[in-house]
Amino acid sequence: MKHIIVVGAGAVGLSCARAALKRGHRVTVLEQGALPNPQAASYDQHRMIRYQYGDAEGYTRMVGEAFGAWERLWQDIGEQHFVATGTFGVSMEANDEIQLTLPTFRRLGIPHEVMSSDAAERLCPQLMLPASAQGLYQADGGVLFADRIVDSLLAWVRTHGATLLPHCKVMHVNTVASRVTLDDGEVVQGDAVIVAAGAWLPGLMPQIDDLPIWRQAVCYVQAPQQQQVHWANGPCLTDLGVGDNYALAPAGGTGLKFGSGLHRRAGSPELTGFKADVSEGYDVIAHFAPYLRDAAEYRPLRMAVGYYVKDATAKFRVQQDGQAVVVTNCDGQMFKFSSLMGERVLACIDGELAADALTRWAAGEL
Ligand SMILES: Cc1cc2nc3c(=O)[nH]c(=O)nc-3n(C[C@H](O)[C@H](O)[C@H](O)COP(=O)(O)OP(=O)(O)OC[C@H]3O[C@@H](n4cnc5c(N)ncnc54)[C@H](O)[C@@H]3O)c2cc1C
Repeated sequence: MKHIIVVGAGAVGLSCARAALKRGHRVTVLEQGALPNPQAASYDQHRMIRYQYGDAEGYTRMVGEAFGAWERLWQDIGEQHFVATGTFGVSMEANDEIQLTLPTFRRLGIPHEVMSSDAAERLCPQLMLPASAQGLYQADGGVLFADRIVDSLLAWVRTHGATLLPHCKVMHVNTVASRVTLDDGEVVQGDAVIVAAGAWLPGLMPQIDDLPIWRQAVCYVQAPQQQQVHWANGPCLTDLGVGDNYALAPAGGTGLKFGSGLHRRAGSPELTGFKADVSEGYDVIAHFAPYLRDAAEYRPLRMAVGYYVKDATAKFRVQQDGQAVVVTNCDGQMFKFSSLMGERVLACIDGELAADALTRWAAGEL
């Protein structure tokens, strides 16, 4: 039995903690905020899981593995925090993400349906699409109830013996000696350290190069009355129009949520904070407006601000450094993989998976 120190109680840190406990290790989770921490990227009503990953075959394949890992979590916690709404992307120009996804689906045998513009509007009557648009529907993806998952993970690891320490900020990680120093000077000694510090990693381990931090503010939206039923019964949208626009369906008591890659800004939790004026929501809705029926009647309800690290490669970086494993560059993509990531990181710590293989797998290269 090893003593595993986990820095950060987001979805990745808690998934690593659960995987470690299942393997019989002793676990201490150190979290600088509250437990749960509402400022963690993992803590919002929903996150999407979808196979649409353009031409990135490795990540498309990993989504199938991720579903398996979620099934194992549902078994452990006795609840399923997921609804398969289906996921739907609209291609509007040559070589866009959806056009790149289609050959990947065909190569990997991912079940899907290609739709004309008319068929797409029948699936999503709230949309108004150009005649040249082409839809790509995939039935298995959908909504992960992120905050419920984090709450359940916390409860599970607590019940299974983890030591959970909120308001404990780690100031330094000694990767060789596998110990961490807290903000009050206390030193915690382990046999291995897992660093899953999300957007705070660049402050904690500045020695890791090139970790740009991004602020992403997504908008909970009030749809016009006559369109609400279509959002409620329809799929999540993976791509709509130019600029990585996506929508989370209001499944299982959650809200309808719009996000846009064009609304992402450089920032950091410390510098740009977590406040967002609801007027920002009109900017997010504007990216969807050309494709929405009754667009003028959509209203922003509230914004949810989160932060993540994303470099130009947009590939997860999972590296072993001495006795530590560092998980970073999680982008706006890691939630769906977090349960699986926990299992793989622990397989590496227990010597069943080579560090190099873990790094290449996480980068989508296997
Ligand atoms: C707006 C938005 C939308 C997204 N949409 C999706 C989506 O649809 N699908 C998807 O799969 N992914 C999505 N993501 C990405 C996903 O949410 C994140 O990649 C994932 O939640 C990261 O989990 P994490 O545990 O690594 O980080 P976090 O959840 O941020 O947790 C890190 C934790 O570490 C703690 N911490 C940091 N430093 C220290 C320290 N020094 N000492 C102690 N504790 C520390 C923090 O307080 C925090 O609680 C989205 C992200 C955002 C922000």
